[in-house]
Order: sequence, then C-alpha cells, then structure tokens
Amino acid sequence: MDRYAVIGHPVEHSKSPLIHAAFAQQTGQQIEYGKILAPLDGFAATVASLREQGYAGANVTVPFKFEAYALATELTERARVAGAVNTLSFKGSDILGDNTDGVGLVRDIEHNLAVPLAGKRVLLLGAGGAAEGVLGPLLATMPSRLCIANRSVSKAESMVARAKPVDVLLEACSFEALAGQVFDVVINATSSGLSNERLPLTAGLFADGALAYDMVYGRETPFMQYAREEGVRQIADGLGMLVEQAAEAFYLWRQVRPQTAPVMTMMRAL
Ligand code: NDP
Repeated sequence: MDRYAVIGHPVEHSKSPLIHAAFAQQTGQQIEYGKILAPLDGFAATVASLREQGYAGANVTVPFKFEAYALATELTERARVAGAVNTLSFKGSDILGDNTDGVGLVRDIEHNLAVPLAGKRVLLLGAGGAAEGVLGPLLATMPSRLCIANRSVSKAESMVARAKPVDVLLEACSFEALAGQVFDVVINATSSGLSNERLPLTAGLFADGALAYDMVYGRETPFMQYAREEGVRQIADGLGMLVEQAAEAFYLWRQVRPQTAPVMTMMRAL
C-alpha cells in the first residue's frame, strides 16, 4: 500500500487525511495518508526519513512550502511560477515538486461557485505563500484587472514585478489605497481570519453581484462579516479550495481524478 502524509507545523488541525481517505474510498485506491509534525528546523530531515520509509509522496503546509520548493529536484511549471510547493512526489532519487493551490482556488471559484474570472476586476488581499501560489493560475484566467493589496506593500510590489507578463492590468497597493475602487471578485489570502483580525477595508469595495472569498475555512471570519455588512450575497470560505487542491494532488499521485462534490458535502457536515 502506498503511503502519503501532510507535513506541517502545526499539523494537528489538518483535514487532508480525511479528504484523501474519502478520495481513496471513492476511487478504490489503496493508500494510507497520515499527518507528520516536522520540527521547525527539521523539514529536510523529515522528508529524508519519509523517503527512507518508502513513502510515495507528501503534501506540505505552513510554514514549509518555500523549503519544499528548495528541496525539490524537479519542479512543475506552476510550482516554479509560484516559488512554493505544496505537493511532493518521491520517484527514486528524484523529488518532484508541484503547487496545486492555485488550480484548486480557480476550480472552486469557476466550477463550484460558477463565477468565471475572465474579464473581471479581481482583488487579491495578501502577499504571503498562499497569494504567491495562486497568482499564476489567477492571471491565466484573464481577468481584466488584478490588484494585489498587502499590509507590507513591498511584498505585493515584488509579486507584481516577478509575475510573467500577460495582458492583464496587474497592480500592487496598500489596503488604504483601495478606497473608492470597486471589484467583482475579492479574495482574502491573508491569515488575518485565523487571528480574528479585521482588515482596514473601507465601504464600497464590492461591485453588484460580487464574490467575496476567504481562503480560511471552517469559520466565519471578520472579512466574511465585512462582506455581509457590505451586502455581498455570494460569500465563500476556503473549504472548496482545500478539497480541490487535494484532488489535484491525488490525481498527480494516482492518475485518478476523484469527485470533489461529495467530499465537500461530507466535510461541511463534520
Ligand atoms: P503567510 O504567513 O505566508 O502570509 C500571511 C499573509 O497574511 C501576509 O500577506 C500577511 O501580511 C497577511 N496578514 C497576516 N495577518 C494580517 C493582519 N492582521 N492584517 C493584515 N494582513 C495580515 O500565510 P499563507 O499565505 O501561507 O496563508 C494565508 C492564509 O491562507 C492562511 O490563513 C491559510 O490558512 C490560508 N490557506 C488556505 C488554503 C486552502 O486550501 N483553503 C491553502 C493555503 C492557505 P504581511 O506580508 O504584511 O505580513
């Protein structure tokens, strides 16, 4: 039986084992999937130990996605663009690094929530690992405009500077500079929801019929409350992204694509 695990610090809260167990049951794949708490200074040693034990691959979560990128001996194009890796496949002496976060987010928004991104004005809040991971796939959907706003503006500016040139108006700014601007899709990729902190966003940010999306899942965040106060009707958390990025990793490892809708329903019922 092939073994996989999610490596993180902390990792106890991770829902990945439940999701992959559900995918395995649904597709008849024989796999084992666990959680590994790696010491903050011991990511590479943890990966080496898993490989020695014969693991076939691993998912990587906070705070190791950049280390996983550095450790991979081969990278997919989307991982290279993201500069971060959330999925590792162990093949002999090679470690293949991929990033499935962006495709997971785009699939959740466009397919599950039925919001096409082409031609839309998109605001990405945050410039950390999650924002880096989704930038390439978001740009590939060809919004008319993509604005990255971050507390530390220089990080957003450096994301814009490093992005592959595409025919999309791509800008970086502070939260304060968003006053008076209007967007069709606003994605919160900051971790502010985890600490229940409210972002300094002013009224009038959402266009009619806008989507407000928070990558944090399993709780009503201050960003979601703010969107509700602003009259936004379509508000989503990041559970769909989580399940979709996992499905892409499962496909990479097993070459079988699981159905995500029943797994999302199961996860929401927990
Ligand atoms: P990082 O630590 O790399 O980045 C954190 C980001 O949040 C930075 O942009 C940081 O700004 C910003 N931030 C944190 N606190 C505040 C605050 N109080 N006010 C304003 N900005 C703040 O984290 P990640 O990018 O890896 O993750 C971000 C979130 O996305 C997490 O909550 C994570 O759980 C979620 N996530 C969800 C996934 C899913 O599948 N649903 C997948 C991946 C991530 P600054 O640069 O100024 O410090």
